[in-house]
Amino acid sequence: MQSKGYAVLEASKPLVPFTFSRRDLRPGDVALSVSYAGICHSDIHQAREEWGPALFPMVPGHEIAGIVTSVGSNVTKFKIGDRIGVGVFIDSCRECSSCKSGLEQYCLQGMTGTYNNYERDGKTLAQGGYADSFIVDQDYAASIPDNLDLAGVAPLLCAGITLFSPLKNWGAGPGKKVGVIGLGGLGHMGLKFSAALGAHTTVFSHSPSKEQDARKMGANDFVVTSNPKELSKLDRDFDLILNTVSADMDLTPYLQLLKLDGTLVLIGLPINPYTINTPVLLAQRRSISGSMIGGIKEVQEMLDFCGKHNIVSEVEVVDPEYINQAYERTISSDVKYRFVIDAKKF
Ligand SMILES: [Zn+2]
Ligand SMILES: [Zn+2]
Repeated sequence: MQSKGYAVLEASKPLVPFTFSRRDLRPGDVALSVSYAGICHSDIHQAREEWGPALFPMVPGHEIAGIVTSVGSNVTKFKIGDRIGVGVFIDSCRECSSCKSGLEQYCLQGMTGTYNNYERDGKTLAQGGYADSFIVDQDYAASIPDNLDLAGVAPLLCAGITLFSPLKNWGAGPGKKVGVIGLGGLGHMGLKFSAALGAHTTVFSHSPSKEQDARKMGANDFVVTSNPKELSKLDRDFDLILNTVSADMDLTPYLQLLKLDGTLVLIGLPINPYTINTPVLLAQRRSISGSMIGGIKEVQEMLDFCGKHNIVSEVEVVDPEYINQAYERTISSDVKYRFVIDAKKF
C-alpha cells in the first residue's frame, strides 16, 4: 500500500513530504485512513537522534486516530468504517508473562515500536502515523467511542495512556490525594483523568498563568513551584504524585509531600540521573517508581473511560507543512496542549 506522509530523511534534518509503501495487508491486519496524528516530544527526540542511533528515513508518529478502510481475512475485532486508535507499539512477542498479562509495553523481548523500529520479521522498517494511511495488526489497535472528537483523541494514544495507567495502577480515586507536576501535553491529561476518577487533584506548575486552565480542567489546588517555599507550606498528605517533567529537578520537596506509603511516579525522562534523598524515603516508607504508556487492554479501558466522561486532549490542529514549526514550539512548551496534524491534508 502506498502512503503519503512526512519523514525525516537524516538525523536532525527538517521533515519533508515523503511517499513510501507499507506492508501488504496480512490476514490479521486492518488498514486505516489516518484522520489525525499527534506530535509527541519523543517523536522529536528520535527524529533528532537524541536517544541514540535511529533508523532513516523515519516517518514519526505514535498517536494515531483514524478510520478502518479494509480488513484482512482473519479480522474479527474491527470492520470497515470503525474508528480506531494506534499508539506507541504495533507488536510484541505475545508469549512472555508481560504480554500474557496485557502489559505489552513491558514485553520481555521488547515491544515493537510504531516507528524507528524493525517489525518482528527483522527486515520491515516500521513507519509511523504522520501519513494518510496506516496498517496494523488488529490486536494492537483499540476502538474509539463515537462521541469523541478524533483530533482530541489522537494524543490519548500516548500522552493519555501514559497518565491513565499509573493513576489506575496506584488506585487514584475518591478519598485519594493526587499531585501532577507539570501542566503540558502529559500533565493536562493526568489532571483530567485524576479529576474524573474522583481524586483530590493538585497541579504543580512553574507558570502561574496556567492556573485558570488547570481549574477548568478539574484541579482542586494549583501550586506555583517557582518559589520552593510554597511546597514546604503544604500538608504532607499526598498518596500519589506523578512527575511529567523531563527537565532536571530536585525530587526531595515532592517526596516530602507524600504521606506514609505514598508514591512518586516518574513519567518524564530526564537526561541525567536523579539524586535520591534516602532519609526522606525512609521517614515515611515512601516509594519512587516509574511507568511507561500502557497495554492494549488498558488503552481500550482508557478510551471507554474517555467516552463515558467526555475526555479528550486539548489540541492545536495543524497542517502537515507546519510540522517543523510545531516541533520548535513543542520544544519551547509553546502549545496548548498538544499539536495534532490533520492527516487528511498529507
Ligand atoms: Zn509519545
Ligand atoms: Zn512479550
